[in-house]
Amino acid sequence: MSWIPYGRQDITESDIEAVVHVLRSDFVTQGPVVDQFEQAIADYCGVGHAVAVNSATSALHIACLALNLGEGGLVWTTPNTFVATANCARYCGADVGFVDIDAATYNLCPVELERQLQSTVEKGEKLPDIVIAVHFAGQSCDMQSIDRLAKQYGFLVIEDASHAIGGYYKGKPIGNCEYSDIAVFSFHPVKIITCGEGGVAVTRSPESARRMQRLRSHGIDRPAKVADVEDAEPWVYYQNELGFNYRLTDIQAALGLSQLSRLDDYVSKRHELARRYDRLLNSENLILPFQSPDACSSMHLYPIQVLENADAGIDRRSTFNQLLNDGIGINVHYIPVHTQPYYQALGNKKGEYPVAEAYYSRAISLPLFGVMTFEEQDRVVESLASILYPKTIAS
Ligand SMILES: *Cc1c(COP(=O)(O)O)cnc(C)c1O
Repeated sequence: MSWIPYGRQDITESDIEAVVHVLRSDFVTQGPVVDQFEQAIADYCGVGHAVAVNSATSALHIACLALNLGEGGLVWTTPNTFVATANCARYCGADVGFVDIDAATYNLCPVELERQLQSTVEKGEKLPDIVIAVHFAGQSCDMQSIDRLAKQYGFLVIEDASHAIGGYYKGKPIGNCEYSDIAVFSFHPVKIITCGEGGVAVTRSPESARRMQRLRSHGIDRPAKVADVEDAEPWVYYQNELGFNYRLTDIQAALGLSQLSRLDDYVSKRHELARRYDRLLNSENLILPFQSPDACSSMHLYPIQVLENADAGIDRRSTFNQLLNDGIGINVHYIPVHTQPYYQALGNKKGEYPVAEAYYSRAISLPLFGVMTFEEQDRVVESLASILYPKTIAS
């Protein structure tokens, strides 16, 4: 029986041709194809500026720096995310706090955010400089509420849209930055489209874009700027601050650009598969993912919750093992970040974010990817059926 992964990239002949074309050209590091890729992402999102880098982790790091996060700074984010969302604040020397999730969407809860902001003011403690909203599974957070609180309490907003390229919020593409300062996408192979490794930060602010361009390349300004300096030696360049080598290559950008042309097809296929899961998985022991009417998800993940039923011998662990034994590569998104040993050592404790922890204790992400077949999906459903409702095997 062949293995079904929880996510899988799709590389076509035209992707391969695009990459080979770059390999035969003059630029194998950052060059004209990176510019084209950035322009194509900016156009897709309807946003002014896109800065491509070698991962979403790097994009989150330079996004925080571009918003002037530093020592003594404070970032709040959701515990239901990959560790990179919180780590970017630590790279800047800032502290991280968490805000519990909404029980229906599994996204950062705006009601909880407001409650925490109010109590922070009452206690006279430090308010966050930045809130990082993560569009979990590809479904947008309630950005209007977060934006309203940002204006009221004076913090900046980064969208970690690593899951969410191709998704929409209130009819506009995620990455549009109507309700945020910077949004970040990931092009890791398990995400919607891939560069092998890669990420991009998008923003409406030309200043933030320039700052991120400088930070991705050692803190050195582009040669065009040097040409503006009177009497500059022709070989000169200026390192104006401490930056990094976070550049994307034209080889990676060519793959990303070629994949981008199929983004909408992948998202519709994911929607079709998700609707099919919705239809085929009817068990009182499961909670299926809720779709907010304000959001059109990219459907990066299809997370189910397995409700414990001691009489029937059903729980998350046994369900997970059953699927694994049947050759199905499920996963769990996410172990709450505040419970990781590194974050516990910083003073966080289990039990502090009960909604995220309860969700996590029951969560399994089922296989879902742009080129998944109905036959593969049927195998997942049958495996689940055999443990959840053994007497009435689903078709
Ligand atoms: C994948 C992911 C990242 C990191 O992306 P990389 O491109 O692998 O660095 C960050 N945040 C979230 C929510 C992710 O899923």
